[in-house]
Amino acid sequence: MARVILAGYNVDTTVLDALGRRNPEALAATPETLSAAYARISRDPRPVDELRAAARADVGRARASNQRIVFEFGHHSVAEHAVFNFDLIGVSRLVVEAVEARRLASYTEKSQRYIRLGEDFVVPAEVRDAGRAEAFSAYVGRCFERYGAAARALEAAGRDERLAGEDARYLLPLATTAQLGMTVNARTLEYLVRCLAAHPLAEAREVGRALLAAGSEVAPSLLLFVEPGRSLRGRTQEVAAAARALWPDDPDGRSVRRGVSDVRLLHATPDGDARVLAAVLAGAVGMDGVDALDRVGRLGPEGRTRLFDAATRHLGVHDALPREFEHASLTFEVVLSAAAFGQLKRHRMATLTAGPYDPGLGVTTPPSFSEAGLGALLAEAVRDAEAVWADLGGPTSPVAPYACLNAHRRRVVLTLNLREMYHVSRLREDSHAQWDIRAVASAMSAEARRAFPVCASLLGGKDRVAEFLTAREGPSKPQAGFE
Ligand SMILES: Cc1cc2nc3c(=O)[nH]c(=O)nc-3n(C[C@H](O)[C@H](O)[C@H](O)COP(=O)(O)OP(=O)(O)OC[C@H]3O[C@@H](n4cnc5c(N)ncnc54)[C@H](O)[C@@H]3O)c2cc1C
Repeated sequence: MARVILAGYNVDTTVLDALGRRNPEALAATPETLSAAYARISRDPRPVDELRAAARADVGRARASNQRIVFEFGHHSVAEHAVFNFDLIGVSRLVVEAVEARRLASYTEKSQRYIRLGEDFVVPAEVRDAGRAEAFSAYVGRCFERYGAAARALEAAGRDERLAGEDARYLLPLATTAQLGMTVNARTLEYLVRCLAAHPLAEAREVGRALLAAGSEVAPSLLLFVEPGRSLRGRTQEVAAAARALWPDDPDGRSVRRGVSDVRLLHATPDGDARVLAAVLAGAVGMDGVDALDRVGRLGPEGRTRLFDAATRHLGVHDALPREFEHASLTFEVVLSAAAFGQLKRHRMATLTAGPYDPGLGVTTPPSFSEAGLGALLAEAVRDAEAVWADLGGPTSPVAPYACLNAHRRRVVLTLNLREMYHVSRLREDSHAQWDIRAVASAMSAEARRAFPVCASLLGGKDRVAEFLTAREGPSKPQAGFE
């Protein structure tokens, strides 16, 4: 008979302390024994619970075994069985981005949408060392004053308190602090520590050192590859040097500045509809993949819609699309505000790479600002920010973006499959979503529908699609799609 044993779970360290985790005899209070025991499964015939008991009985041996198996054999996935929770408090919004760039972890952060912010910000070490701490603090102080003034003006113009704060934050700089809870396994933690060690910002490196110190206290044998190699440290400079050599007269190329919802489709899987539907067909009836692609490739819109209907029949608004939808993908270039980026970056089942915040890309203006007559205040905030940004070294300085506002923009390249596109669309085109990310998601959906007219036809926010999905329940018939 199958046996299922709860082998471990994460518990608040305060509780573990009360249970005596720091007592020298409580050596086994480490997730390393789980990793060591699981690592043995492949070669040791004993039941797993016995392997765990053996690892707990000799933690020193378990640690040595982890080091050997993980680092000498390269059987690195066993480090994923050790999981940590971290509170990150008082980290700048800019460095939160560096932390959350690691996809295989979980984050929940203080929302600048829902919480009215006090004057909490970092003065970067680089700014202090350059003797500019006072001027920088004065600048951030002015930002918070403008934030307060904008929130009051928006409320006076009829916006409720929450929405007023949500839009006023476009005037706050990326030096503003955030806090977050992070749940991460040892493998991702090690990679995060390595990336942060190579980061150009002192604050990021400091966060990395603190994470390593705290993690090593509990699981030293699983956090060993923590020094960044030269490839992590020097990549940007290497590419910039190559660009200068290749195009000596114009290494930076063209920077196009466009409207608010700046979304361009760079690439889509050619005939992605056929690829998705062929995979659906092959999976359902066991057909040869080439035959399935050939058959679907020759189907007209009506036949394809029929297959699509069958594959998505009874789909609820919270259901993920079938995995076969991952066989079609989209690559977008998006120019978006820091506020919108903060939301887009949370979608982990995607590949997101970003250029620096660049005042040359303009700013995103909350529509409510025009209604409340805040155009001049925004212009003043942008002038102030850009002067401080230039003073901190401008485009070539990693420190300068601390001065950028949530309204400032960056250029990102985003590749995601159609299944994740549905998820983004359901959440971010919904009426609960914030207007800026909603505009980005809607523009992406419009491109996706053009690229995959059949398989992307049910894209849309939860609220609007729910009704449509209910209405389409019934006998199979060609659908016009959801617009
Ligand atoms: C209206 C709104 C308000 C929000 N407010 C906040 C807020 O105040 N604070 C905050 O921190 N975030 C907030 N978020 C962000 C939200 O919590 C998600 O992090 C974000 O929307 C990304 O979506 P996701 O996590 O569902 O999936 P994605 O990262 O896009 O991944 C897609 C799917 O993959 C699966 N998946 C991915 N990673 C894991 C994993 N580690 N374990 C299990 N399954 C996984 C899930 O099925 C998930 O739906 C908000 C989002 C919305 C839409």
